Formats: sequence, structure tokens, C-alpha cells
Amino acid sequence: MPRVAVVTGGTRGLGRAIATGLLAEGHHVAAVYRGNEDAARAFFDDTGIPVYGWDVADHAACADGLARIERDLGPVEILVNNAGITRDAMLHRMSEAQWWEVIRTNLGSMFNMCRHAVGGMRERGFGRIVNISSINGQKGQLGQANYAASKAGVIGFTKSLALESACKGITVNAVAPGYCETEMVGAVAPEVLKGIVEAIPVARLGLPEEIARVVTMLVRDDAGFITGATIDINGGQRMG
Ligand code: NDP
Repeated sequence: MPRVAVVTGGTRGLGRAIATGLLAEGHHVAAVYRGNEDAARAFFDDTGIPVYGWDVADHAACADGLARIERDLGPVEILVNNAGITRDAMLHRMSEAQWWEVIRTNLGSMFNMCRHAVGGMRERGFGRIVNISSINGQKGQLGQANYAASKAGVIGFTKSLALESACKGITVNAVAPGYCETEMVGAVAPEVLKGIVEAIPVARLGLPEEIARVVTMLVRDDAGFITGATIDINGGQRMG
């Protein structure tokens, strides 16, 4: 059944593949971005998916943004919290700004978006929430204490909200991707990237579409028995 779906960070990278995957399933999709207007415009021109610009680290902006989407498309039934950033540094060199920017964006956004969306889902007795974590939140990573902490936090947040929501027809799951072909990973130095690929048993990066396929499965109406799960998609790099 077609549902109203919101994908944060939906204009680029994994989010773009998730948004277009949900569109292909017949859903009414809205994509949230932060400030890259050119990428957002190009995405809209390519896909026809409406775009909404705000900072998901800002609690009040999430309330306003979701209200705008609900006015345009209807009540939000599917929420994919995908927006995320890195600000890498070894901890002994990490600034307070690098720490909080990542925690606020990657983990604060989970609270900000779910807090405003879950009440309506509870009232209507249906909801699907998917939160994008990361392999590095599960195993840790040099230079990413901020990022790994935020992504590990996403998993605990997901399990707790899943417990709170289970009796209301709402599922809440996390997806933990390994390294995928996106701009975020493209920014990694080539010699570091070579080492990363060598550590992946399938010997390649993941494709955004491979992440999107799992997300579209998790939000189906008939996926109601999957909740509180963290699905690993990492080419065998980490087996939980
Ligand atoms: P990209 O950098 O390619 O895309 C990021 C998207 O998120 C853009 O649409 C960007 O908007 C949006 N965004 C970033 N910050 C905010 C914000 N504060 N408010 C609203 N929107 C924001 O990211 P990826 O596709 O690589 O990553 C997507 C998610 O997957 C992230 O959570 C990441 O941590 C996770 N992940 C990625 C992996 C990978 O290999 N790429 C591996 C494991 C996890 P704008 O264009 O305006 O900047």
C-alpha cells in the first residue's frame, strides 16, 4: 500500500538510493537535505521527489519541516533517518565542535525526527522507522570516536523505541552498512580506501542500491514482525 515516506539526507548517496527505491515501490516520498541546493535541485529534476531543506540537528526545524511535509503529502507513515556526517580526528586532537557536530547530527537527529513523527504513528496504529547506523558504530574505528559513538547510540535508541512502539503497529529497525560507494567514502584518502577494500571479504565497496533494497523491505506493510533489529550489510567485514 502506498505510504508517505520521509528520507533524511535523501538527495545524495545512500539516501538518494533509498528515496528512489521507495518511490519505485509506489510510496509518496519526501527527501530532506541540509544545504547543498544544487544537489537537491538536480535530484528533484531527475526523480520528481519533492525536497525539503533543513538541519536535522535542529529540534524546532524538524518540527516545522515535518509539519510542512504533512501539509503537502499527508501524515508521515515511513521515516528513514539516514542523514549523517563525519568529522574525523584522533581523540587527542578532536575539538569539542567536531564531537558535538557529529553527535547532534547523527544521534540528535534520531530524537528530533522520531519525537515529532512517532506520536502520529501511535495515534494511527501504523509506522515504519529505519535508522541508519554503521559498521563503525559496532566495531569502532580509528579517528572516529565521535562517529562510532553516535552510530552505536543509534542502535540503542532503535531498540528502545522499538520496545516502546511494538504494541502500536510501529516497527523500528537499524541498518548498519559497511563501506559503500558514496561521496562520504570517496573523501577517504586512496591509500586508506585500498586498505578498507582489502578488509572486505567480498572485495568491493557496497552499492547504495544494496542498502536501499533492505530498507524498502523493512518498511513493507507485511514486515511487522521485524522490529528492534540491526541488519548488517557489510560484505562480510563484520559478522555479529
Ligand atoms: P552523503 O554525504 O553522501 O549524503 C549526506 C546526505 O545527508 C545529503 O543529502 C546531505 O544534505 C544530508 N545531510 C547531512 N547533514 C544533514 C543535516 N544536518 N540535516 C539534513 N540533512 C543532512 O552520505 P552517505 O550517503 O555516505 O551516508 C548516509 C548515511 O549512511 C549516513 O548516516 C552515514 O553515516 C551512513 N553510512 C554511510 C556509509 C558509507 O559507506 N557511505 C557506511 C555506513 C554508514 P546536503 O546534500 O544538503 O549536504
